[in-house]
Order: sequence, then C-alpha cells, then structure tokens
Amino acid sequence: MTKFIFFTGGVVSSVGKGVTAAALGRLLKARGFTVMAQKLDPYINVDPGTMSPYQHGEVFVTEDGAETDLDLGHYERFIDINLNQASNVTTGGVYAEVIARERRGDYLGGTIQVIPHITNEIKRCIHAVADKNGVDVVLVEVGGTVGDIESLPFMEALRQMRSDVGRENTLYVHVTFLPYIGASNELKTKPTQHSVRELRGIGIQPDVIIARADHDIPKEHINKISLFCDVRQEAVIPAKTSEILYNIPVLLAETGLDQIVVDRLGLASKQEPDLSIWKGMIEEIRRPKPPIRIGLVGKYVELHDAYMSVREALYHAGHANNRKVEIEWIHSNDLERDKGWERFTDLDGVVVPGGFGERGVEGKILAAKWARETQVPYLGLCLGMQVMCIELARYILNSDEPNSTEFDSQTEHPVISLMPDQHELADMGGTMRLGAYPCELVPGTKAAQAYGEAAVSERHRHRWEFNNSYRDRLGEAGMVFSGLSPNGRLVEIAELADHPFMLGSQFHPEFKSRPNHPHPLFMALLAAAVEHQEARLPQVERIVEQVNELEF
Ligand code: GLN
Repeated sequence: MTKFIFFTGGVVSSVGKGVTAAALGRLLKARGFTVMAQKLDPYINVDPGTMSPYQHGEVFVTEDGAETDLDLGHYERFIDINLNQASNVTTGGVYAEVIARERRGDYLGGTIQVIPHITNEIKRCIHAVADKNGVDVVLVEVGGTVGDIESLPFMEALRQMRSDVGRENTLYVHVTFLPYIGASNELKTKPTQHSVRELRGIGIQPDVIIARADHDIPKEHINKISLFCDVRQEAVIPAKTSEILYNIPVLLAETGLDQIVVDRLGLASKQEPDLSIWKGMIEEIRRPKPPIRIGLVGKYVELHDAYMSVREALYHAGHANNRKVEIEWIHSNDLERDKGWERFTDLDGVVVPGGFGERGVEGKILAAKWARETQVPYLGLCLGMQVMCIELARYILNSDEPNSTEFDSQTEHPVISLMPDQHELADMGGTMRLGAYPCELVPGTKAAQAYGEAAVSERHRHRWEFNNSYRDRLGEAGMVFSGLSPNGRLVEIAELADHPFMLGSQFHPEFKSRPNHPHPLFMALLAAAVEHQEARLPQVERIVEQVNELEF
C-alpha cells in the first residue's frame, strides 16, 4: 500500500514548503524507500507554460515534456528522481478534464459540482501518481497557503483521502513560519496557531508541524505550538533557515522528522537512513573555495527564481571544480542601452539562458559577441544558443540583418527559424517541442569531450531552431555543429572551433543537473572558466593552494 504525505503551507507563501518536502523525500530514499512527488497548484492556468517568469519563476520541464512548477526541480535535485506529467496538477487541468467529460456526456443527467466531481478528479490525480509509479511513498504538496479561496477543493480532497485510504496511510504536514519582531527580539507563534485553526476548520488536523524561522527557535515556542495545535511536542519540528540549501535533509534528520514519519505511517524501515554520501557532498560544498564570477545575462534577472535550475547547475559544477560560483546577474536590456558593461571586466564565464520574445534579445546578442571577441568561456542555453548563431552570422555577413524569425519575421537572414510543425499551431499552451529527445555527438568536438559519450538525451522547450541553410556558411566561419538529432536534421549543439569554450545547446541541460551529478556541459564551462581565471590572475593558483592547505 502506498503511503501519502500531504504538505500544506501556513502564514505566508515562499517559506520553503517545496524544499521541505524534497528534503523529507531524500531522507525516505536514504532509508531505502521508493518515493514520488507531486505538486498541486490551485491557479486556473492549465500549466505554468504560458505564464510570465515574473509571475511564476522558472518553468521546469520533465523528461516526458510536462511544463511544471519550479518545486519539481527541487524534488528532482534533492531526491535524485525523474518526475513526469502526473507530478503537477492545476485547477485549470482538473476543470479542463471534468468539463471535457461533461461535454462527452459521461455524466449525463448529473449536476457537476465541486464536491464530488472536482474533488474526485483531484483524488484521481493523486492516486495516478501512486499507481503509475508503484512507489512506497508519494509526497503531495499543495501550493499557496491555507485560507486561500482557490485551494479549498484541493484541501477538501486531501481531507477525504484519509478516510479513503486509511489513517495509517496518510500523514498531514503543515509548514508554517514564525515571524521575528526585532523591537522585542522574539519570534511569534500566533500566526501559526491561527493557520492551524484554519486548517482544522477545513477538517484537517496536522500530524506534524514544521516551524520555519530565520532565527533560533526556543523550546518554549515548540511547546506552545504543541499545546495550542494538538500536535505532540516531538512532531513540532524547528526548521531554522539553512545557509546551505542541500543541508536541509541533514538538519531535518537531526530533529527526528523521518523517524516520526516512518513510525506514524507504520513504514517498516528498510534500513537506518544512510546519508553518508549526501553528508560527504555537504562537506564538499562547505569547504571554502576561491570565488569565480560567472555572468548570467537574462531579461528576468530581477527575479532569480526565473533561473532557478541554471543557478543550481552553476553551483553544482562550481563545487566540483573547486570554485565558489558568484553569479553576476546582468540585465540584457541594460547592455542594449550601453549600460552594465563595466560588470564584465572580472567575469571568467558567461551564461545566456533561455527566453522568449523580443525584449532584451539584442543585449544577449551583444553578450555573445563580447564572449566571442574576448575569448571568455560562454554557455548558451536554448535562446543562448540561438543568439550565438545569430551573432556569428552578423559578424561574417557584416550586417545586422541575421536574426530569428521570432524577433523579426521579415528578416532577410533567418538564421533561426520556426520548426516546420510549429507553423500552423493555433494554441500557445503545451505546443512547443517539449521534453527529452536524443542527441548524437560528433566525435572530437568539445561537446563529445564534455559528455564522454556518443549519444545523450536532453530536455527541450522551444519553437524555433537553427536554419540548416546557414550550416555551410557558419561552418566555414568556424562553427561546429557538434550535437545533432539522430536523423541529422536538427542542430542540438553548436560550438566555436576557434575559442576556448563557446558552446550553445538547443536543449536545457540545467534541468538534469543534480548536486551529486553536476551536468557535463556546466562542468565544461566551469573548467574553461577556471583556466581563464588562472591565466587572467596568475596569483589565483597560489590562493587556491593556500585555501586548500587551510584546515577546518
Ligand atoms: N524563444 C526561443 C524558442 O522558442 C527559445 C526558447 C527557450 O529559450 N526556451 O525557440
């Protein structure tokens, strides 16, 4: 029988509910259980694919091409599993399904209502994850905070799950926040009490409360929460903000959380949690390292969450290359207005990530030009690969005309053009080239060297692609098409021969980087950046030696 652990949020959003669920998933996996995770998002969009990154942060893409909430990235990175279409459910998706059934006549004669039709569909989605994957435990997180009007049907479905599958198979974890009042130097538990009262009003009594705070949480506060919320003291878990994201599973294990969870769910523990490898990784992260600056040139840089997986992938590869990556967040719009260039002076690498729409794209093209001319290592991700091709075409043709038809539909030189199957599409949602596709690597190229494999599979999310009628011309100018679709038609990776490392991929490698398996292309970028740094600052080698000699 699959066990279900439900995560709800209290007091404020963004308290780290997703990370907490992901961290518990890691602990259960360390005990030998199989785990899947699911996010229930109460908004009415069918998926976040059509939402602005400013509203939603990054859109995470699964192997099977679901465009999902960024919390799925946390689940994949912490638990080291691949999720799928069933792992993200939205109000829009639930209603779309129920309405389609109603139109088909499946409910003839019936009145379709929130309870039971919508709640039944939500429960069907929750069961689908368990059935599809046949795992020991499913972690189910509800987006938003208790009290939101739009999350009520989800909460009701969660409440019903306990009587459907049994008390011994369900666990409710409420993640709340204790605000800090500076004037009196204390944390407050009252909002948590209110939020639990609200949750109980819906009919859910939490089994575990995870109290998040930015400060140390005194024992009296735990006792107080326990007393007012009817949760045993040992199941009120203090969770102070951790400096190291990936240390959260270790910190939660120290509170006994995973023991409480397995006891309550009657999960016969397969083994004591084995966190040795994970802890070794944390030690490696914690070890002081010389900094290295990588510029991230994007148009949503005000909101770092818009590049969550890129940021994490850079950190993963940085640690593995004995460097602490410091990201210089550079707004591509600024570059267009000839601003922000002073920030390039101490960069040892540049990343141009994915993006959509015309705004800011000229700045990204300028960043690619800068990297080509200064020979600074460059990694382009999706749009970042496209701008690298546009830039080289502009250079060799000595013209500003080369472009993507996404930004100039009338361009004389459509170096990047719409994929043939994208021409006739009427719907914007879920119609891009999405998910994992195979890519064959050309032997002897930097891409093949980075991966050390002949063929790879990577995740995509784009409509435009490299226009093959420019292959010869750019090839003559030193561009190597080092990754191709198996039929040879689609350019998946392009790189410059005459450059230490300038490579762009039409896919998004960042989605597959894990803290314990940094991605090969990010590893290659960082290795090249380290070389660049050592050549630029000869004293760096000395500093690295000194740091390595320090004992901690
Ligand atoms: N806008 C480009 C396309 O659709 C790039 C997409 C991306 O960077 N994810 O092809």
